[in-house]
Amino acid sequence: MSAATENPAELLPIDRLKGVGPKMATKFARLGLLTVQDVLFHLPLRYQDRTRILKIGEAAPGRFAVIQGKVELAEVGYRGRRNLLVRVSDGTGFLTLRFFHFSAAQQENFKRGAIVRCYGEVRAGRSGAEMIHPEYEYVAEDDTSPEQTLTAIYPTTEGVHQLSLRKLAAQAVDRYLPQVQEWLPPEVLELVKLPTLQQAVMTVHRPQAGDVERLMANTHPAQQRLAFEELLAHHLSLQALHDAVQRERAIAMPVADKLINTFLAQLPFRLTTAQVCVAGQINHDLSLPHPMQRLVQGDVGSGKTVVAAIAALTVINNDCQAALMAPTELLAEQHFANFDRWLTPLGIGVSCLTGKLKGNARKSALQAIAAGDARLVVGTHALFQEGVEFHRLGLVIIDEQHRFGVHQRMALREKGEWNGQMPHQLIMTATPIPRTLAQSIYADLDVSTIDELPPGRQPIETVVVPDSRRAEVVARVEAACREGRQVYWVCPLIEESETLELQAATDTFEVLRQALSELRVALIHGRLKPLEKERIMLAFKAGEIDLLVATTVIEVGVDVPNATLMIIENSERLGLSQLHQLRGRVGRGAEKSSCVMMYQSPLGELARKRLAVMRETNDGFEIARQDMELRGPGEMLGTRQTGMQQFRIADIMRDQKLLGPVRKGAERILEHYPERVGPIIRRWVSQAEAYAKV
Ligand code: ADP
Ligand code: MG
Repeated sequence: MSAATENPAELLPIDRLKGVGPKMATKFARLGLLTVQDVLFHLPLRYQDRTRILKIGEAAPGRFAVIQGKVELAEVGYRGRRNLLVRVSDGTGFLTLRFFHFSAAQQENFKRGAIVRCYGEVRAGRSGAEMIHPEYEYVAEDDTSPEQTLTAIYPTTEGVHQLSLRKLAAQAVDRYLPQVQEWLPPEVLELVKLPTLQQAVMTVHRPQAGDVERLMANTHPAQQRLAFEELLAHHLSLQALHDAVQRERAIAMPVADKLINTFLAQLPFRLTTAQVCVAGQINHDLSLPHPMQRLVQGDVGSGKTVVAAIAALTVINNDCQAALMAPTELLAEQHFANFDRWLTPLGIGVSCLTGKLKGNARKSALQAIAAGDARLVVGTHALFQEGVEFHRLGLVIIDEQHRFGVHQRMALREKGEWNGQMPHQLIMTATPIPRTLAQSIYADLDVSTIDELPPGRQPIETVVVPDSRRAEVVARVEAACREGRQVYWVCPLIEESETLELQAATDTFEVLRQALSELRVALIHGRLKPLEKERIMLAFKAGEIDLLVATTVIEVGVDVPNATLMIIENSERLGLSQLHQLRGRVGRGAEKSSCVMMYQSPLGELARKRLAVMRETNDGFEIARQDMELRGPGEMLGTRQTGMQQFRIADIMRDQKLLGPVRKGAERILEHYPERVGPIIRRWVSQAEAYAKV
């Protein structure tokens, strides 16, 4: 073995490759390519088939192909703009190569009788088939064998030519493949029965022509081998984050049985089995001397708030404070109203802190928080801004987690550090996803699921109607209000613009107010002053408004049981999970509720499918599953939230069958090969994404 072959590819800087000087190295660095290993793991986006020479006579426009023939004529034409035209023939027909940019040398080299091989898209030109700026090379007349393998197309960036990347990859494969280290132990590889790492890397850079379909779909065994390792790397990275937090200290808090029982006794309902079970898991976590990191997922209306209250009671009973953070002021205020009603009678101080709190009111809230008189503090981001000092924060509860990213959550914890102890964390999300996916996407958290709704809930009847039937819809609104019910009318995003959304809502509001002059109609949107929003929501809740026209500000959490009808305009533009959240605003009481989803015709195939899902099921898990299948988890959950988003080759939906083995493999490696965790993560997860230093 030479000295070079002993060095792992991870430790070889990219300039070891021939032709890479400091200037190119800087350019490659922009693609994240710093080492020879990075080059080997810079995976193709797609492939071209250049393994066959197409007869010019068979070259149909629109097709990408290799052709080869004799130069008949090369001349500069001036029609329109100056261009070089090269006529090539192979005995079955003629084809013109057209260049708008060319050097004198290039022109010179197209000598009559020379044999050129070209790759490009065949187009219909003025005088027969053409290729514009094809890739080309000169070959010997008897050389009729083009590429042996498919040609890889790599992700690139400005100033880096595809051809340079291709050459770079070829060189790395030829010279350094044996220096790529296999980190997966045999018993882990055994779980998936896929090719070895070196075989896999070789294959993705130089695959056989016959495999093109599987390769394009990223389902070739070689690609699956790499996807497996990539998923494993992300999993390990999240797991490392989890374990790092787990090693920190937190106050162990024995469950507050008595206080909780008093609280439960005053509720007008009994907890569901699922609520009892999840509350038990939380109380167990709290009793341990390290920070809880638990995600509670449950469908809209499954009763997560009460479960959060139980957790807060245990913490409060242990002389600590609990903070609940909501994504909007509206929600924070609603939570405050609930907790105030629930906890104040038990002699527990509750405070609310949002951005709108100013002057003396703010000052006294801050004082109560700092002195520890406020045992439970509800608020928005404002809770964790500068100037807010907790007396002794034992628990951070985050509601509707998809609005907060992993980094933000980590920052929050710091706020609660006290005497070297970290606060416990409870995260609640109304976008539940299937268990196996949750365990992968949220590998940095322990996941609990509230998998049943309180008894007596009626499913919401959903109808899907075209915008042209608006008059019927308006009549339906009127009828519902006549019966003493209340109605939401939601006008979602028209374009990616809050202004336009507001415009649409304002127009609709004006039209409806005139059409339904006997009803009390109000408009609520994100631009209103917080006090104004609150006033409107309170009035709606008190039954003083019949019809509430809204932008998507009402999306989460608002609770008005007498509202039994929801109209959603432009529903085809919303994600399924968002529609489900919106729809969850009705069906909160004992009355039968319905939702009318309007759409603009004509509806595309995908949109039709999506709305059909909404019509057919009320089950948040099923909807989330379909939404992820149609849009991908990143789109659905928000990329910031998941630690597993920026994949090079894996796809968490497509590769679901790998997730079980990934979890098992991660366990094995953490237990028996901890020294390999770092190298695996470094190979696949960029530094910006790696949350924990391993
Ligand atoms: P979400 O999980 O969407 O946050 P909430 O906590 O807001 O749901 O609860 C929705 C409604 O159901 C609230 O009015 C709440 O008081 C009520 N609720 C919660 N648990 C139960 C239960 N076990 N039985 C009946 N109603 C319940
Ligand atoms: Mg909620």
